[in-house]
This record gives sequence, C-alpha cells and structure tokens, in this order.
Amino acid sequence: MSQAIINVTVWDGSQVIRPGFVLWEGERIVDVGRADVVRFSSKVRLIDGKDGWVIPGLIDLHVHVDEVKTPELFVRYGVTSVRDMGSSPRVIAQWREAWRKGDRRPYVYWMGRNIDTGKPSWWEAVAVQNPRDVPALLEHMRRLGANGFKLYVNADLPTCEAVMDYARWLGLPTTAHHETIPASQLMRLGISGIEHAHCLLHQLLPNRPFVNDKRKSGYLRVFTGFDRLEPNDERARRLMELAYATSIVWTPTLSLYDIPPWWRRKRPAGVALPPEWRREWARSYWDFLSTRGWTSADFRTAQRAVEVYKRFVAEARQQGVPIAAGTDTPAPGLLPGAALHHELRLLVQCGFSPEEVLRAATVTAARALRQEGRVGSLQPGARADIVLLSGNPLERIENLMSIRAVYLRGQKV
Ligand SMILES: [Zn+2]
Repeated sequence: MSQAIINVTVWDGSQVIRPGFVLWEGERIVDVGRADVVRFSSKVRLIDGKDGWVIPGLIDLHVHVDEVKTPELFVRYGVTSVRDMGSSPRVIAQWREAWRKGDRRPYVYWMGRNIDTGKPSWWEAVAVQNPRDVPALLEHMRRLGANGFKLYVNADLPTCEAVMDYARWLGLPTTAHHETIPASQLMRLGISGIEHAHCLLHQLLPNRPFVNDKRKSGYLRVFTGFDRLEPNDERARRLMELAYATSIVWTPTLSLYDIPPWWRRKRPAGVALPPEWRREWARSYWDFLSTRGWTSADFRTAQRAVEVYKRFVAEARQQGVPIAAGTDTPAPGLLPGAALHHELRLLVQCGFSPEEVLRAATVTAARALRQEGRVGSLQPGARADIVLLSGNPLERIENLMSIRAVYLRGQKV
C-alpha cells in the first residue's frame, strides 16, 4: 500500500521542503518533494501531518544491544536504527529476526565481536593469535551478518593492520576503541572511525592514564589527565587536521562521560527512568562505570575532563571532522533512545547548530555505516523510517522530543 504524509515541513537530511510530502510504498520511500505541486492518485492513503515536521528516523551509532531488554524504548524516542558494538551473533540474529517480523525495535547494524590480541579483554571479545588468522575471522563474522569491524583495547598493531586491510578488501568499515595505539597511527593506516573522546585524544597525554587504586572504579581512567589537555595547542590541531584529512568519522560518545552528574541527579532532564532500568543499573555488574570510591576532587577532574572533551569536539567541528552521534547505551543513566537526545544536546553545547546535530544522528551516522541513501535520509529508495514532530527541530534541538508519530519500515508504531 502507498501512503503519503502531507501538511508537513520535511527535513530530508540536507534541505527543508515546505510544504512537503513523503510518499512510501511498503517499507521503501518512493518520493519526497513539494506538496503544493503534486497530485496523488486516489489509491494513495494520505496522512495529515497537521503542520508538523518530518525527519528521517534517528541512528544511535554506539549501542550494546545484548544489554537492552526494552528495545521498544528506542523507537519511542525516534531511534529507528542502531549500530551494535560487540554483542554476540546469536543476540544480533534474534534482534534482526524480531525486527523482520514487525516487532517494535530499531534495525541493528553489527560491527562484529570486539577484536583483541592475545587474551580477550571484556565483552567476550575475540582474540587474534596470529594476524594471518584475520581474513578467516572477518569472513566468518561477515557470514554471521557483520556490517563492519571494531578493534578493541588490546589489539596489537599487526592485528589492527590486518583487520583494516581485509575490511577494506571486503568494502566494510573498521572503527576502534583503542587506548594505547595512537589514533593518528590508526588513521594513517586507514581506520574509518574512532569511538569515544578519550580514544582519539589519549595520544596527547604526557603519560598513559593509569589509575591503580583498588578502592576506586576503573571509570576514573577515562578522565584522569584528560582534564589538563589543551585543545588549541599545535599537537591537538595537527591531530584534528589528520582526522579531517583521513576522513574518519568520530563518534565521541559524550554521554558516556556525562554519567557522574547523571548519577548524582539520578535522572536525565525531562525523562522518567523506568523502574526496571533503575534496578538494572543498581546491579554490581555496572560497577566498572560507577563513581565508587571517588573523592570530590575526582568528581571535579571528571567534570573538567568533560568540558575539555567538549572543547575538542568544538575544535573538530571547526576543522570539518565528521562527527556522529553515539551514546554507549545502556551504560548507567543512558536510557535507550532518550540517551541519544541527551548526546545531541551535548553536541549543541559544543557549538553545533540544531541542523548539524541532526546530521550527526542521520546522514553522518549513515556515512559511518556506509549506508548512505539507504538509511538516515528521506529519499527515493531509502527505508521508510520516518519521525513526525510537532515542533521545528532546526530551531531548538529540544523540539526533537516533540514526537507525534514514528513510522518504522513504513508502519506506524
Ligand atoms: Zn561501547
């Protein structure tokens, strides 16, 4: 069945169309354009958007779906696609199967299992023993449905090179959560993306962050030292120039560092935390992201580091580095879907206009996925993941919360 939404302003990912329409058939968009010049056949079901705004479904580029028990929350907040960063293939297959059957959840792109060397670190990472094993490993993950690959904290340089080389051969992107190999080295070797702010910036620290106080959570390490970095010095500028020149997509996941204030406030602005998530985040499993044992000086360090990260993101934006929106949902306080809105507000605090921020969660995210034109924009051939808002999101990013309807694969949910 063909359906069209009319009486709306359309932001298609690059421009505003007013009065606009979006026409789709089944789960694909057929046409997008000016509503005052088009005549629809009587077979098209017309939906009155009542002077609302229509935008592409949002994409959260950094999610761990194996820990998300409430997938419908993403959709409620307009998030219709997520990129998973290391869940098990079994969980990904179940998630996609449920999506295909029409379950209310985003489509999941999968970066495979985290790739380490020697002995696997967290998250059931796979450890490469010999770089020669890499092609078979990547082929295996691709057969299981991987859309790209993620290098993890312990991967050594030969493994990183082998993964990037073979991923390039496969035409798939590689991104990294690395804390020891300098990001500039990975960029020169052809990495497609860098996850987290601290993974891009750790090479600027005079010493590696080292927190070895058993009384405190390891979470402190993503702040220690970073609070003293200077975004305007020569080395920082050269790093950003390289990021621009090698056209990586940076997903700084600012929300991940914003957890300490969230924990003290107990809930993000304007969002009610469901009791099941409060219970979930109270489990000792999440202690590695807790502020256990922190002194008030530690809290101050974290707060200063968050401000430093924001200044670096502002600098990257100035230099033209593509920045995409990702959260690390569901780390404590990062409620599926709602967390992406918080990330976007943090990007606004870095000097992004609301439109630039919307791009970070749509077209730039699609670019990181190498799915441009298929997702993250409203254009013929794209998946009909559509969000109808009552407020203008280009005026105030908060209006992104004024969700009136979400169409997932063309179906109203
Ligand atoms: Zn993560």
